[in-house]
Amino acid sequence: GDELVASVHRLIRYADDVRRLGVRTNADTADDAARARRFGAEGIGLCRTEHMFLGQRRESVERLILAADDADRDAALAELEPLQRDDFLELLDAMDGLPVTIRLIDPPLHEFLPSMEELAVKVAVARERGSASHHDEKLLAAVERLHEQNPMLGLRGVRLGLVIPGLFAMQVRAIATAALELRRRGRDPRPEIMIPLVGAVQELHLVRDEVERVLAEVDAGAEIPIGTMIELPRAAVIADQIAEAADFFSFGTNDLTQTTWGFSRDDVEGAFFSRYLEKGIFAVSPFESIDREGVGALVRTGVDRGRATKPGLKLGVCGEHGGDPDSIHFFHEVGLDYVSCSPFRIPVARLEAGRAALLDE
Ligand code: PEP
Ligand code: MG
Repeated sequence: GDELVASVHRLIRYADDVRRLGVRTNADTADDAARARRFGAEGIGLCRTEHMFLGQRRESVERLILAADDADRDAALAELEPLQRDDFLELLDAMDGLPVTIRLIDPPLHEFLPSMEELAVKVAVARERGSASHHDEKLLAAVERLHEQNPMLGLRGVRLGLVIPGLFAMQVRAIATAALELRRRGRDPRPEIMIPLVGAVQELHLVRDEVERVLAEVDAGAEIPIGTMIELPRAAVIADQIAEAADFFSFGTNDLTQTTWGFSRDDVEGAFFSRYLEKGIFAVSPFESIDREGVGALVRTGVDRGRATKPGLKLGVCGEHGGDPDSIHFFHEVGLDYVSCSPFRIPVARLEAGRAALLDE
């Protein structure tokens, strides 16, 4: 047993010596970050911040949704900011000295809002009894107004940031003040700010200006790179323009697969897709293993066009494919700098990245 473990460790260290791809992790909590570090993660490639708005913080989120004016909205954001700063403080501390890519909030709205069905039932019952609360009535109206048929293709990511003023700025302030505080304590935080679901360069310019303004106000004492996800076909096609406003790209192959194929991510486990697999139309789901001809071609386009604008542009991938062995070989081929995957897949990613480099010689 021990001997086997030792030889696996030797093999992985050998892979580390030869691989060209960096291996980072997807992690949103300090615990996951610490676990990933033990598995050999060289940083965080994706911290999803949306889950930080759930649970006990739902009340502030409700206030944000219900905000009738700027003052209401700012009050709700002011409640969230210290909580976010603590989130980032812990995360950056756990990854001290290593890059931590923090993605600005990107929830499909239905995960972020109270359930419309539950709320409608609650309000209907209360109305029957003549006891409907004003708060619930208002909340239901807001949730109905925001309801979407396809939340995964709607008000998410950069769109949300542009529609709710102050939301991204609050997160950026929380990141910068957390970094400043850690630096005061003699630590070495390395945050990077990432903007999701960009499809038009104008979106990126607007958000980048706002992020830079907030970073200048806080003056966190070190450059914080500002990059973007490439996860829409359009973004891959105009990657030359996008690169002008981005310090790095991270390919979001989950959304890129969804939007290239027109397959809903939410339905991928469902009946239709499993029948496709049964019939052998696909040997494997394109959500698991990169579809080189379609999605992969778009990744390649994004790489080539991005680097045509900025030769040294830093490139990574943080979709599920970042931990899939076959896909890792593809990411090596197209010249990415790193893959990012869930903590438990890191040893395999290190190994495969090494194999990809050896096969390339
Ligand atoms: C992606 O789309 O590939 C991605 C990493 O982002 P998310 O899964 O959070 O949409
Ligand atoms: Mg995505």
